[in-house]
Amino acid sequence: MDSVSKSLPVPAFAGGMKVISLTPVVGKLKRTYAEMYVPGEEEIEDNEMRVTVLGSGNPWVTRGQASASILIEIGNPERDLLVLDLGSGSLANYASLKLPVNKLNKVFLTHLHADHTGDLLTLTGSYAKVGRADGPIFVWGPNGTEPRLGTRHFVEALQEALAWDTEAGNGPINPESMKIIATEFEISQTQVIYEENGVRVTSFPVVHSLSGAVGYRIDFADLSMVFSGDTCACWPLVHACKGGVDLLIHECFPPAAMLAAESGLSIERATIALNAAHTSPQAAGKVFRLVNPRMAGLWHTLLSPQIISLIFTELRRVYDGPVVQTQDLTVFNITKEAVIARQAKVEDQLPPIPGVPRVAYMPVQKEPPSWWKEALIPLDDI
Ligand SMILES: [Zn+2]
Ligand SMILES: [Zn+2]
Repeated sequence: MDSVSKSLPVPAFAGGMKVISLTPVVGKLKRTYAEMYVPGEEEIEDNEMRVTVLGSGNPWVTRGQASASILIEIGNPERDLLVLDLGSGSLANYASLKLPVNKLNKVFLTHLHADHTGDLLTLTGSYAKVGRADGPIFVWGPNGTEPRLGTRHFVEALQEALAWDTEAGNGPINPESMKIIATEFEISQTQVIYEENGVRVTSFPVVHSLSGAVGYRIDFADLSMVFSGDTCACWPLVHACKGGVDLLIHECFPPAAMLAAESGLSIERATIALNAAHTSPQAAGKVFRLVNPRMAGLWHTLLSPQIISLIFTELRRVYDGPVVQTQDLTVFNITKEAVIARQAKVEDQLPPIPGVPRVAYMPVQKEPPSWWKEALIPLDDI
């Protein structure tokens, strides 16, 4: 371990309050930023992009790390919200940001691994009960090599699996808000898949597990961020970064021996996972060197102080630009002048904020099943 790695802040779940980086700012800030990002106290500015890691972790969700998800707030007049993947636990982090549930209706999936999709059930069913009341969720995602492996099939099956939840809500809840609308696109080419309110989303193929995974590039007001999703180091991502990017968030797994030791996986299984599906610190460093982003973020990393030290030591062998090891609730503010990374200071127990409804809906009491009359204990004497 070198002295640089030793001086890195500890993760938030271990008591740290700082972003894990020695270079949390690039460029010249045009305003002052509080040391920590406090939700509700700092509005996003016009023509700014704010990127928050809702889930930085792995398939094995922990209290310290939710599974895969990245939130993007856009400083356009609409203040659009986009979410890239929605792994288990990420909505708990979303709720802590004091952002309205009602606006969270655009989800871009990189692929259909469960650790990237787990909270779609919560967003569709449960969040409809706490204010996501105006209409459907829109999900974009890649097709597969056959229809049953594509996003459309996944979404339709999810909708079907929610039949009881949807039927139970039918009456008290606007039925439109229980729907998911899928837009599936061809994985094999780099292409624009969304363009609205000044925001452009481009998908590009990546190399991960099975054909059918993509990464995304987001462009807004001459600002850009690229998100790898899950991938081995690959050329389509490098090409998608052409012209330069302000922020590149790339996945990074620790070296196989460390992954095995910290996760409980066998060394054989850890080696396969890394080689066939993921990116080592040195490989991530090589990608950063090829892309040369203003700011780089490592993501999807099982975190511990030992792993963080090892990752930075390995990475520094090949890349010496600004890098942040992201964790849950690492926040990047991107402007033309600068990119700054901070940790958010949040409350653990904050109910989701409904937001202002755009569609009027009057809840309807449903007729209860006839047998409940006998089953219910009379309460009129208390
Ligand atoms: Zn995956
Ligand atoms: Zn994953």
